[in-house]
Parts: sequence; C-alpha cells; structure tokens
Amino acid sequence: MPEKIVIIGSGPAGWTAALYAARANLNPVVYEGEPSSIMIPGGQLMYTTEVENYPGFPSGIKGPEMMDLFRKQAERFDTRIYTEDITSVDFNSHPFRLTSSENTEVEALAVIIATGARANWLNLPNEQRLAQTGGGVSACAICDGALPAYRDKLLVVVGGGDSAIEEGLYLTKFASKVIIAHRRDKLRASPIMQERAKTNTKVEFKWNSIVIDVLGEKLISGVRLQDTVTKEESDLGCGGLFIAIGHTPNTSFLNGKVELDKKGFVVTPKSWRTATSVEGVFAAGDVMDPYYKQAVSAAGTGCMASLDAERWLAHKGLA
Ligand code: NAP
Repeated sequence: MPEKIVIIGSGPAGWTAALYAARANLNPVVYEGEPSSIMIPGGQLMYTTEVENYPGFPSGIKGPEMMDLFRKQAERFDTRIYTEDITSVDFNSHPFRLTSSENTEVEALAVIIATGARANWLNLPNEQRLAQTGGGVSACAICDGALPAYRDKLLVVVGGGDSAIEEGLYLTKFASKVIIAHRRDKLRASPIMQERAKTNTKVEFKWNSIVIDVLGEKLISGVRLQDTVTKEESDLGCGGLFIAIGHTPNTSFLNGKVELDKKGFVVTPKSWRTATSVEGVFAAGDVMDPYYKQAVSAAGTGCMASLDAERWLAHKGLA
C-alpha cells in the first residue's frame, strides 16, 4: 500500500506539514534526514542559539529546543518518522517512488518537499567553532542581531548582495557601527539597497576584503582581513560577524525531476500555492523560498502545503 503522504525534511515547514496532515488523518511519514557534517535533522534552527522572533515564545527559545517541540507535536498525532535521507525520487509514474539512504523504497500518493536550504559559510575553522557555540558568529542577522550580545558593538557583515545590505541595515538598529566587507569593489545588491546603505551614517564598507580568520576564544574579538588586490592582511576588532553570502537549497536529490530556479530552489508556479511542476508534489519552507527565509514563514508554508496536498488527494479521490 502506498503512503498517502510523505514529507521530506524536518525543519519548521516539515513538522508543520506533518502536524496538519496527521490531524487530517493522512497518517503521514516524515523522512527527517540523517545527521551529516552539513545538515542535521531539524535543519537551520539546530544551528541557532536563541530564537526571539517566533510568536508564542515571549521569552525566546533555543533553536534545537524549538525543533524538539515541533517534532513532539507532530508525533502526538501519530506521525511516523524515519531518520533517513531521501536520496532519489521517481515522479514519472504514480504512486511516486522514493528511495532512502537505507536503500528502502517507499511509495507515496502525495509528497511534500521541505528539505530547506543551508546558509553558505566561509568555512573557516574559527568561524564554525564560534557559530556553533553562540560566540558571536551568525548567518542570520534577522534571527540573532537583536540579541543583547550585539548591542552597541561594531559588527561586520560579509557579502555584497541584497542580503548583506539588508542585514547590515537591520543591524544598524543595535550596533554602534556596521562594516560590510565585500570581496570586490562593486556591490551585487540592487541600486535602491546600495543607496540606502551608502546614505546610512552607521554603515561603512571595506572593499576588496575577504575574512581569512575569526579571532577570539569564547567570544569573537575581531576578524583578520585580506585585501584581495594587495594581499595585505589586517585585523579589525568587532563584537559580531554576520555571514550573508547566500543560501544553497537542499535539492540535489531531486535530480531535475521537479522544476528548479537557476539557483536550485523549487519553483511553485502559482503565487500563494505550494504545488510544484509535478502534480501531487508540493514544496514548503526555505527550499522554495529564497526571499523570506524565516522559521515562521517556513511553518506557514508547511501548513499551506499540507492543506494543498490534502485537497489534491481529496479531489483525485485518493484520500
Ligand atoms: P547573492 O545575491 O547571491 O549575493 C551573495 C553575495 O555574497 C555576493 O555579493 C557574493 O560576492 C558574496 N559571496 C559569495 N560567496 C562568497 C564568499 N565565499 N566569500 C565572500 N563573499 C562571497 O545572495 P543574497 O544576497 O542572499 O540574495 C539572494 C536573493 O534574494 C537575490 O536575488 C536577492 O536580490 C534577494 N534578496 C532581496 C532582498 C530585498 O530585496 N530586500 C533582500 C535579501 C535578498 P560577488 O558579488 O563577488 O559574487
């Protein structure tokens, strides 16, 4: 017997989709993913220390604790969970066929892709160490910037796209100064964002600069920069480092079976709908959202995907 609905991914989108599907008696299965060096079940929030912008938690909550609560809530309604990756999909015939990292095959009438996206990092050892221990390195200014640790400090943002500018501007609310370090002498960001940054008195740019090391033991104390033209190195003291060099969606396992945009995000052609290019396959969360990238918006689209899938199954007489 095929499963009615299989959900791939275990961040806010996946667990919310599971919760809704379970309460609609669709008896969902979640493939929460296998822990690896680049991803762990629970997704991006597992790398976040304090979450202060998820409604319903007035005192804030740790990212991993929040994901544990999401998981428990889905389990309460008998969601079945496999700690495996889905490594390949066959959407050419129906029921769909999915293969897991344990080499088992599962058939599904409907599928929700909620595998998220991972923030790109510089991949420097001290960057990773301090990011994982709440030592003042983050890949999400909107998530972490308002924490008391960053107040009235000089903060460094790496990147030259819209995210770097947006995050830099956001950080000016709290920081004494924001320095945007970009590897070239021209921004990739849209002209209007560039204008906003260049006219903000708290923002300064370090052009042709790459971060080659992060300084500090328990807490960041600065960054070591290298000039990309002269190769000269210099240290810059700071109280926080925000990496904003893009995200990589976790879609390689789809192997072209679903339409992706040029950066690899799943395309959901109709606005405010979660249906993908394959009928019966839906997408939710950061894997289809390069724009908002928030836990609460991911949970929202998880709910939408579950309702879309439920309606599609009912319309087809499959559930
Ligand atoms: P992005 O446009 O791909 O920009 C990434 C930036 O990071 C680029 O400036 C790039 O430098 C730099 N970079 C990449 N790898 C690097 C590395 N290893 N070391 C140092 N720098 C590195 O990504 P994004 O800024 O996250 O934006 C993603 C999409 O969302 C875009 O379409 C953007 O327009 C949109 N967005 C819009 C808004 C808004 O309108 N408010 C806000 C956020 C995002 P180079 O320029 O040299 O390649």
